[in-house]
Amino acid sequence: MATPKKIAAKILYGRRYDHVPQPQQVYLRPGERHIRRTLGALRDLRSRTMSLEDYRARVPLGEIEEFISCPLCGDSRQRPMYRPRDAKKGWEYQVVKCPSCGFLYRNPNIRPERLGDLYATGYSGFLSGAYARQRQRRYRVVMDAVGPAFADGDGRRLLDFGCGNGLFLQLAEQRGFSAYGVDLSPDSLAEARQRLTSAQVFHGSPTDVDEIAAGGFDVITMWSVLAHLPRPVADLSMLRSLLSDDGVLVILTVNGGSLHLAGLGSAWGGFTRNHLMFYSRDTLPRLLAAAGFEAAGLVPFYGDEVAAGESSLTPDEQRLLRRRVDSTDYGAMLVAVGFATDAAVDRWGGQVPDVRRLASPEQARR
Ligand SMILES: [Zn+2]
Repeated sequence: MATPKKIAAKILYGRRYDHVPQPQQVYLRPGERHIRRTLGALRDLRSRTMSLEDYRARVPLGEIEEFISCPLCGDSRQRPMYRPRDAKKGWEYQVVKCPSCGFLYRNPNIRPERLGDLYATGYSGFLSGAYARQRQRRYRVVMDAVGPAFADGDGRRLLDFGCGNGLFLQLAEQRGFSAYGVDLSPDSLAEARQRLTSAQVFHGSPTDVDEIAAGGFDVITMWSVLAHLPRPVADLSMLRSLLSDDGVLVILTVNGGSLHLAGLGSAWGGFTRNHLMFYSRDTLPRLLAAAGFEAAGLVPFYGDEVAAGESSLTPDEQRLLRRRVDSTDYGAMLVAVGFATDAAVDRWGGQVPDVRRLASPEQARR
């Protein structure tokens, strides 16, 4: 459909960028990143800060929902920002921005004890062969970018938190890891058990399973899981306790600080039905600090095709894309590495481009 935005783009750019996949156009079309940043800043200016009491009075509360304060810094004040909805599928929710730390989260959020309601049935129904290949390509791209931690499993312990139907665990067992997974969806786990040979998967929390609760993990992964968690500090603290001192947590999640969100607002693709929290380059390291990690690294995400060497862009365009991703938002997805201690940075941090030391929760309070 010829929307006003599409007509404006046609007038500005002609057909010059038609061969560029839509998610990458924002980085290549001249000026577009500045326009999007400006749109995002204007939206920030228009939103008004209010007390949680005022906010409660004007926003409806669903049966499995609860109002919350900022999960990262505790500020209870609310700045309503977005209202994603899908009229056809019949869902809608509110997203607020914390006026203190800038964290974006759904409020009301889902009550943790009702989280299983979202995944009880039918969650794995959309898997196709092409989808599986694309997913596994993405896992490989991220593993290659993070580097040595994934290079050779060599019997080291790996836990995939929110393993779904086991597509990543299949790669992990092929690379020689002693691999485990947990998930909330019984349907997905049944599928995972058919796919896997040595990796073991369980329903529920890691602390419910003796083999996993024993800890000592070298690598823990969260592939598109973090945005679904209503108690991220508690969950990541638990995962930190399962890591060895030189262990790493690798996270892939939608980038709530991206130019895509700045341009699209409530229509942004990261606002899916079951997403609860939206991290950025600033707020994800805060979460890792609050969970007791000593350092965090961020890895720019250039898109699966570019990273896998399968892009239709010219070499010059790819160089420009990489430069602009590096200098703007780090990409549509956020890839982060949480290092349990400095020993983990020494052992696995060599290839991660942007590693920063984190203040402990005690230091941050001072
Ligand atoms: Zn906050």
